[in-house]
Order: sequence, then C-alpha cells, then structure tokens
Amino acid sequence: MARDAIADAPYPAHPRSAMDGFAVRAEDGVGPRAIVGEVRMGHAPPGAVGSGQAMRIPTGGAVPEGADSVVPVEDADERDGSVVPGEAPQRGYAITPTGEDMRRGDLILRAGIRLDARALGVLATLGITAIPVWRRPRVAIISTGDELIDPDKVPGPGQIRDSNRYGIAAALRGVGAEPVHHPRALDDPAKLEAAIERARAESDAIVLSGGSSVGVRDLVPRAIDRLGKPGVVVHGLRVRPGKPTVLAALDEKPVIGLPGNPMSALMIFRTIAEPIFRRLTGEAEPRGVPAFARAATALVGRPGWTWFVPVNVEIDGVERKIKQLPIRSSHTSLLARADGFVIIPEDRPRIEAGEAIEVHPFLQ
Ligand code: AMP
Ligand code: MG
Repeated sequence: MARDAIADAPYPAHPRSAMDGFAVRAEDGVGPRAIVGEVRMGHAPPGAVGSGQAMRIPTGGAVPEGADSVVPVEDADERDGSVVPGEAPQRGYAITPTGEDMRRGDLILRAGIRLDARALGVLATLGITAIPVWRRPRVAIISTGDELIDPDKVPGPGQIRDSNRYGIAAALRGVGAEPVHHPRALDDPAKLEAAIERARAESDAIVLSGGSSVGVRDLVPRAIDRLGKPGVVVHGLRVRPGKPTVLAALDEKPVIGLPGNPMSALMIFRTIAEPIFRRLTGEAEPRGVPAFARAATALVGRPGWTWFVPVNVEIDGVERKIKQLPIRSSHTSLLARADGFVIIPEDRPRIEAGEAIEVHPFLQ
C-alpha cells in the first residue's frame, strides 16, 4: 500500500467487556447486586449501573456507565434476580479500556507494506476501504539458449526443457510483480537484441536467463550494452553458484541476467534480484521472520567467495539441523530435494558443526 494507515478514532471506542459476566461497581465489594438489565451485542447499554446493581454483559459488550469491573459468570453466584461475586471485584477487571487497542492518530500500518491477510483485516477494522497502492511492475522473462525446447516436447540430443521461465515467473509473482512471458531468444546476437528491445518497450524490467557465462558466448551482456545506457553495471559476481550474473539497466529499466543453471537462477533471484523487484513494487522491507538452524557438520566455502549451499533441515526434537546436500549445484533436482540454502560469507568461509545459521527458503 502506498499510504500510511492511521487510526481515525480510539479502538475500542468505548470500554468493552473481555468476558461473559456481570458489569458491577468494584466499591460494592462482595455484597449482592440486583440485576437491572442486560447489555446486548451491537447496542448501547440500556442504562447505567448504580450502587448495589449489576448488568448482565457478554464478551465484547459495551460496559455501562457507572460499572468499573466485570465479574465473570463462572465467579458469580446468581439467584433470585441478584448476583453475588465469589470475591471482591478488582477495578478494571475484564474491561478493555477505550483506546487500549489503538489510539486516535496512531500509525498502525506503514506505507510500503504488502496487503496481506493481516493488513487487510486491520484496514477493514479501521474502515479504510479505498487503499492507494502501487501498480504491479510488468517484468518480461526471456530465456536464452539454442538448446532449449518447450516443456511439453521431448528433448532430442543436446536439448533440454526451458524450465527457468516458470520458476522465475513464480518468483516474480511472489514478490508482487507481474511476469510476462516473451519468446525464447536463440544464441544469436541480432535475435537476442531484437528480443530485448521488444521486451523493453512493453515492460518495466527484464529478466533473462542463460547466455551470460564469461567467454565467447557472453551474449546477454553484449546485447544489453549495444542497446543503450547505462547498460551493464555488473557482470560476474564472486558467488557460487551464480557467478555469471548480469546487473544492468536501459534508461530507468532494470535488466537482470540470471545464470542459466536453474538452481543458481533462483538463488540469485532471491538474493540479488528480489530486492530490486521489491523496490519496483513499492514494498519496503519484507516482514518475514528469519529461520535459523544448526549445522550438523562443518560447512566449508572458499575465502573471497560467497557460497550458497543447498541444504535440508531436519527436525530433531526442538533442534533444527542443517544437512548439506551431496550433489552438484547444476542438478536441477536440488530444487526439489533442498529445503533451502545457507550463505557462507566470503570473509568467514567455515561454519563449524553446531553453529546456528540462517536458512533461506527458495521462493514459492
Ligand atoms: P548458459 O548461461 O547459457 O551457459 O547456461 C548455463 C546452463 O544452464 C546450461 O547447462 C543451460 O543449458 C542451462 N539453462 C540455460 N537456460 C535454461 C533454461 N531456461 N532452463 C533450464 N536450463 C537452462
Ligand atoms: Mg546458453
């Protein structure tokens, strides 16, 4: 949402009972009270509660004038039109005071949060029914590679199914962007440039995958650089996997080149591209709670490199244990087998067994 949500009034608007029981005056002590009426939900109390009086009240009912305590029904002895509390009522007991939940003018939700289940409930409570939001950015997806075929085809020798676009599309939806599938680009400079140029005209950002390994075939960064300024800003990161990542822009539009390897593509999406797309959606910091687990065995990276290690997390009593997966990062099945990944920083390339470390989930 694009605007702060401020409480327009105190919530609750009047003192409210937190229990089913009897609204009474505490000063009457343990004495009997005459039951003078009943508070009904959705209505103002039928009158006030005077000395020696009580009014039946449901949970959530508006506390009548004069009453300053609620005796829960299970602590009350009711007979012949009067009620006796089991013990002397405490002032304020079982009463939610006016404005205890929200005071008028309180900042309840900040601009930049996502309208999730929690936010919608709070906004409806505040009577905010028209909510300014940012438009979902349209992000073009282009897969590159002569070897790629559609997933409903059977690969011939040397061919593989184009899987990245589906994972990337879901990841984009997950951050609030609108993915737009564009035709695949062959590993041909002119065709790739044409594909990027078309996508650029129709979208707010572009995500490519593949074609960015450093070498003769680093088609993607060259094509971007030929199409405009500022062009490629970063080509190659000291991360594994994910080295052949391209961060670029054409005018104001981000152009991200993800590695071709499907798992690397999603790890780089999550760690590098996601904050860029979040910015485009207007979302400030995501509100997730980080998940930590303990390394079952030492995890070893390499000095000067950031390593992303796919892992399983096993629950062992109250402990969560990280197990490194013993297969190559180029194996797509890691996306099915891994629960997430951990990051071994470049300046601390060894995580000892027993150390707690954050586990990053893949995007939904
Ligand atoms: P590249 O960066 O083009 O050299 O690609 C690196 C690896 O990722 C190669 O094995 C490609 O076949 C693979 N790859 C590239 N694009 C895709 C894609 N869209 N879906 C699945 N695998 C891909
Ligand atoms: Mg390729």
